[in-house]
Amino acid sequence: MTDSAPLDVDLALLGGGGAASLLLAALDRHGVHGLRIAVVDPVRRRGQDRTWAFWGHPDTDLDPLLSASWQQVEVATAARRRVLDLTPLRYAMLRSGPVYDRAAEAERRLNATRLVAPADTVTDDGTRVRVRVGDGRTVRAGWVLDSRPRPPARAGRTTWLQHFRGWWLEADRPVFDPARAVLMDFRTPQPPRGVSFGYVLPVSDSYALVEYTELSPDLLTDAGYDAALAGYRDLLGLDPAGLRLREVENGVIPMTDAPFPARPSPRVVRLGTAGGATRPSTGFTFSAMYRQADQVARALAAGRPPVPRAAYPRRHRWMDAVALRALDRGGVGGPEFFDRLFDRNPAERVLRFLDGGTTPAEEVAIMNSTRLLPMIAATAGDTAHRVRDRLRSPRPAPAVPPAVVGDVLGSEPGADEAGRLT
Ligand SMILES: Cc1cc2nc3c(=O)[nH]c(=O)nc-3n(C[C@H](O)[C@H](O)[C@H](O)COP(=O)(O)OP(=O)(O)OC[C@H]3O[C@@H](n4cnc5c(N)ncnc54)[C@H](O)[C@@H]3O)c2cc1C
Repeated sequence: MTDSAPLDVDLALLGGGGAASLLLAALDRHGVHGLRIAVVDPVRRRGQDRTWAFWGHPDTDLDPLLSASWQQVEVATAARRRVLDLTPLRYAMLRSGPVYDRAAEAERRLNATRLVAPADTVTDDGTRVRVRVGDGRTVRAGWVLDSRPRPPARAGRTTWLQHFRGWWLEADRPVFDPARAVLMDFRTPQPPRGVSFGYVLPVSDSYALVEYTELSPDLLTDAGYDAALAGYRDLLGLDPAGLRLREVENGVIPMTDAPFPARPSPRVVRLGTAGGATRPSTGFTFSAMYRQADQVARALAAGRPPVPRAAYPRRHRWMDAVALRALDRGGVGGPEFFDRLFDRNPAERVLRFLDGGTTPAEEVAIMNSTRLLPMIAATAGDTAHRVRDRLRSPRPAPAVPPAVVGDVLGSEPGADEAGRLT
């Protein structure tokens, strides 16, 4: 379909996934109702395509949408099992379905126009932005908020991936503790280069998301994820005969110190993973997306430009680059790194640090809890690498590969036709 008259709007949201959904909800919440808004995405997001786990203070907007939340979490290594009380924070699980539903409701209330087609070229002349849409239409917008996935501007000094597979397991008797989530369980076999951990997010005593995650440069095979998850299930002492596999969740998230420009041109703002909301050292993204959605909505409600603060302070991005380097070059072991952080700091401080919310004094305490020599070596290596990068032309960043998706549920290796694990 083509339409010669451009669609004139105040705001065009390119991409309607996590970041855009949180933004639509925030615009509605802050009563930003007078604006003309377009949402451009070839896919209308619905249902459970991902599960967000994140921490934060209890929140009246998010809490009604949560599937579960926990005041206590476990961090386990081969040497010990630590139970952390997160007060005043809580760890929370939010499935995508309620977020997309909330966004759809906001979209209706905001009277937004939905274009179910890809956004192609974006041309910013400094006063308005023209967006060519795949169906032939053109959108002319005062501001563009762009969360379409894209690789970083150039290759990073360290390029890892957080890649994972999760099984939603239903047990035929109580086997999970719904009062407590497992945040990171490093007892999984560690990969030769990288870090692995399992985790458990129970929504009841017989229903939980059990996940195997690797932070490393390369993906596993389909069979590799299944074998790792089966191994973790056995480590938890869960009897496969008493479990049914209800859903499978796969994902890949970039973990890199490569730059994700948040403001590529005067009237284009990038949000979500494309705008640098993914924390390089952990892959956690949700809290920054939520924070930035709120900042954009508040700015618009006050008649200001929709520009959020940087997802993380610059010094945090530098610390992440050093930590990633130390982990990648083998100077620091992943389980040991996280174990020391939680051993020598209140859990609440570590979690605030991972969200970019600590003060410089708290960050000194955090850095002092890591092993000093490998960190000094990584800092020196990072500095030398930055200098080398300045002297040579930038290398293009590799694209984030798609997740390895296994067979359909029911014929998943290790499950019989009823989804019962074998
Ligand atoms: C399975 C999974 C689980 C995750 N779990 C967590 C978690 O527990 N905690 C956490 O903090 N983070 C998590 N993340 C990371 C991050 O929070 C999510 O990836 C989040 O959805 C990122 O939001 P986004 O808007 O940047 O990207 P997306 O949600 O991927 O949205 C991008 C949108 O852009 C659209 N698009 C693509 N091309 C075009 C185009 N040309 N034009 C217009 N639109 C386009 C896509 O259709 C999509 O809807 C997870 C990621 C995955 C994949």
